[in-house]
Amino acid sequence: MESASNQSRLTRRSFLKKAGAITSVAAISPFTISSFLTRSSDDRRIIVIGGGLAGLSCAYELDQAGYNVILLEARSRPGGRVRTYRDPFADNLYAEMGAEYVDSTDTFVRDYCKKFNLKVLPAKQYDGVYVRGKHLTMKGLKSGMDSLPFEGTRSGQLFGQEVHYIQKWIDLVKEKGENSPEVQALDKMSVEEMLKKGGAPKDIIDLYTYTNATESTSVPSKMSALYMVLANAKTSAFSENTVEGRIFGGNDQLPKTLAKKLGTKIIYNRPLKRLGFDKNGVTATITENGKLTKIKGINCVLAVPASILRNIKINPGFSAEKTNCIQKQQYGHVMKIAMQYRQRFWDEKNSIGQRVFTDTPLRRIYHFSIDQPGPRGILLTFTSGEDAKKLGRLREENRMEIAQNTCSNIWTEAPQYWENGITKYWNEDPWVKASYSLAGIGQKGFREILARREGPVFFAGEHTAIHRASMNGAIESGLRATEELKRAVKV
Ligand SMILES: Cc1cc2nc3c(=O)[nH]c(=O)nc-3n(C[C@H](O)[C@H](O)[C@H](O)COP(=O)(O)OP(=O)(O)OC[C@H]3O[C@@H](n4cnc5c(N)ncnc54)[C@H](O)[C@@H]3O)c2cc1C
Repeated sequence: MESASNQSRLTRRSFLKKAGAITSVAAISPFTISSFLTRSSDDRRIIVIGGGLAGLSCAYELDQAGYNVILLEARSRPGGRVRTYRDPFADNLYAEMGAEYVDSTDTFVRDYCKKFNLKVLPAKQYDGVYVRGKHLTMKGLKSGMDSLPFEGTRSGQLFGQEVHYIQKWIDLVKEKGENSPEVQALDKMSVEEMLKKGGAPKDIIDLYTYTNATESTSVPSKMSALYMVLANAKTSAFSENTVEGRIFGGNDQLPKTLAKKLGTKIIYNRPLKRLGFDKNGVTATITENGKLTKIKGINCVLAVPASILRNIKINPGFSAEKTNCIQKQQYGHVMKIAMQYRQRFWDEKNSIGQRVFTDTPLRRIYHFSIDQPGPRGILLTFTSGEDAKKLGRLREENRMEIAQNTCSNIWTEAPQYWENGITKYWNEDPWVKASYSLAGIGQKGFREILARREGPVFFAGEHTAIHRASMNGAIESGLRATEELKRAVKV
């Protein structure tokens, strides 16, 4: 497995009851966590909190290395933001309602997939564009036959229209280096401000909101210009030619495999409420069967989103720097909608395509079930930013009505094949309350601070990773925390 420190690529794409309710470990019934813990040797226990890919990879690697580890997860399932829905659909169809794509550079994910015999299959690329009410094809755009109805765009491409307007800052990185004060100062500027300064018309800023919708689920006025520039100077940014993969049979197989390997060392339905720590170790206060229970360990790994961490009571509290970053770390909004249709009309001859880029509230609409047999199929949508926020305020049936109407504007025959659908708005999920982390204005040093150990407490999670906002980043952070613990604690 490649070590996190070898990675230099830029980022890719988160109640307390009264004290009297706290139950001591020795005092509770045989069906509680404490009965499990008293059966294992626990004087050198490491407690991992959060069973997303960050916490799972960390707990798995520590377990493999012979450490006494226990993973506490708030939900009744592993995987966190990796969430494959199966039950709502017919014919064994499934859809990724959380993390979906595995990039070619996602070595941490790919290494685990190889190890656990999970296949990553390529997804189909964008072939349709529906913007400002116009039906365009990607082929037409690439050949220059079709042009985007947005002022200031270049022909032959969809993504990366902003690059031309930020070229002088990309050159600045090349000339002065990424760590130069001139380049680092760009962190004070928003993406919107930079595009305006570079002469981009409003249309380009609007289009960037859509083309960048999956990389960052926020709006250009809230994103740091520094990261847009670095992404273009150091890496090839996402384009219509980017090849993306998905785990065949569902991404949830990866977290489930890790969880299965951990066996009874992962304990579900145990949300952390408070964390106390001192030089002797940590005390995690969790909810168990409606009661508060304390568990002690020598160390702890907090692998929950910063958006959740900010509501957990920490005693005596983390450093001022860390607390500030936990409170202010930016996240966007994201909603996915899966729609089951009786027939795959998007594959018909006259169709605009099967993976459509739009400026409608749905933003991206694509055939998800390409690797699953028909005749039925699932169209999946990815909505972010202000549109996700607006849709998120609506009831399920109203969200679905908008989704169906949008689809019928794109494919007129859609309504006759409609069967059912379901939405997932991550900002209303109690164990995330957000989408994924982003580089907000003035937040350039946040990641390092969020990742930094504080006493016996270690930190993981995509928000602490170089490859933030990704499954790969979550695993990268889990492996980094494992290495830090291995250096600090000997088995
Ligand atoms: C809609 C969407 C689309 C995405 N698309 C992609 C993509 O295409 N490709 C990609 O690589 N990545 C994608 N991502 C990002 C990716 O899902 C995340 O970066 C990654 O899964 C985060 O893993 P994590 O372990 O850091 O956090 P999480 O997966 O959020 O795990 C944290 C865990 O902590 C648990 N928890 C929370 N609070 C507590 C508590 N108090 N006590 C105990 N446990 C708690 C949660 O239940 C959760 O299981 C997407 C994310 C979303 C939401």
